[in-house]
Amino acid sequence: MNYVSTRGQAPALGLGAALAAGLAPDGGLYVPQALPALRIEDFDECDDLPAVATRLLRPFFDGDPLSDALEAICRDALDIPAPLHAIAPNTALLELFHGPTAAFKDFGARFLAACLARLRTPDAPTLSVLVATSGDTGAAVAAAFHRRPGFRVVILYPDGRVSPRQAHQLGCFGDNVTALRVAGSFDDCQALVKRALNDAELKATTPLTSANSISLGRLLPQMSYYAHAALAHRRTRAAPLNVVIPTGNLGNALGCILARALSLPIGDIALATNANRVLPEFFAGTDYTARASVATLANAMDVGDPSNFERLRWLYPDAAVLRAAFRAESVDDDAIRATLRASRERYGTQVCPHTATALRVLEHLRAGGDARDYAVAATAHPAKFDEVIEPLIGTAVDVPPALAALLLRPSHAEPLAADYAALRRRLAAPSA
Ligand SMILES: *Cc1c(COP(=O)(O)O)cnc(C)c1O
Repeated sequence: MNYVSTRGQAPALGLGAALAAGLAPDGGLYVPQALPALRIEDFDECDDLPAVATRLLRPFFDGDPLSDALEAICRDALDIPAPLHAIAPNTALLELFHGPTAAFKDFGARFLAACLARLRTPDAPTLSVLVATSGDTGAAVAAAFHRRPGFRVVILYPDGRVSPRQAHQLGCFGDNVTALRVAGSFDDCQALVKRALNDAELKATTPLTSANSISLGRLLPQMSYYAHAALAHRRTRAAPLNVVIPTGNLGNALGCILARALSLPIGDIALATNANRVLPEFFAGTDYTARASVATLANAMDVGDPSNFERLRWLYPDAAVLRAAFRAESVDDDAIRATLRASRERYGTQVCPHTATALRVLEHLRAGGDARDYAVAATAHPAKFDEVIEPLIGTAVDVPPALAALLLRPSHAEPLAADYAALRRRLAAPSA
């Protein structure tokens, strides 16, 4: 399998090279040259998530030296529970928050790290993994690469726009992880990272790669938990599993969309956004118009220009077909608050603000008479957002042990202006 750029102006690469490159040299995102043909029967022998992932990703690794390690990569990286937790009739949460940093980003970050570690030759210079984060990505990437020889991680996050616990997590790793708190928005952080990745002169002295949701190494494994859930659902139900996904940069949703395109038994896919409405506006018929992001309670989705939209356009070149293929709905902070308050009583469990957007979209579908089977992707553990949730519900949210351990470590982040020259100086400094 070869990988080409969404912009069509870069040479095709094998998987290993595309993983290492991050962004394509023409500024586009890598996508597979063709979608493999899979059949549901191919998964008959696959009884856990790493096994499903290995089968699903086999054609994507075909012909690459990494192919021999695929099973081990899936076993090491994707050994995270992703249960379907029934919360109402025909309704389950797909819980994606049982990894080390309590958000779905752990799946992609660990998979990318497992691949890059195997691609590295022992004498290669240190590879800097750059990551712009609106909250959860940075911690997941830091955890995945922490103390891995030959790698350093540089995290950029919008100062004051991530939750206090998220900020603590980002700064608590130390060693080969540097946290930079940027005086700007997530979009500024993302633009700085993109610029560094396109800076050939800098890369000549400081090898760089990205761990953002543009990275193929994150996108590919994000298909696997949807595949696993849909196959599990199929064992007891005839109709396919419909899914609602809290969406920011579209990386998680794209995993589901690709899994459906590979003929896994996934039905309708609904995208839930917060007050950042670029996608709902596009799906309602206006031209795609990137905007500055606005800050919301579901901060990991505060994205004004979802980078993976390019991949969606590659998969659906015809805008009318694309618009017909999905539903997208925006949920404002008031509705997020109302859902957070009602969650425990209505569903027997507390959700995070991101998951609340998707639950709200499902509630609209239910109100419109849709009684089919749905899974709502639960993208983070509510304890990461205690400062939002606890004042609304009046009680404490239990902290899972992995998160509690991180919160006990000291935490430090360096300030950085939202200015490329400043980032460049910091990256070129020997001990960043
Ligand atoms: C990153 C994140 C999202 C958005 O995922 P995208 O892949 O950017 O669409 C949603 N919820 C949580 C908790 C996240 O960390």
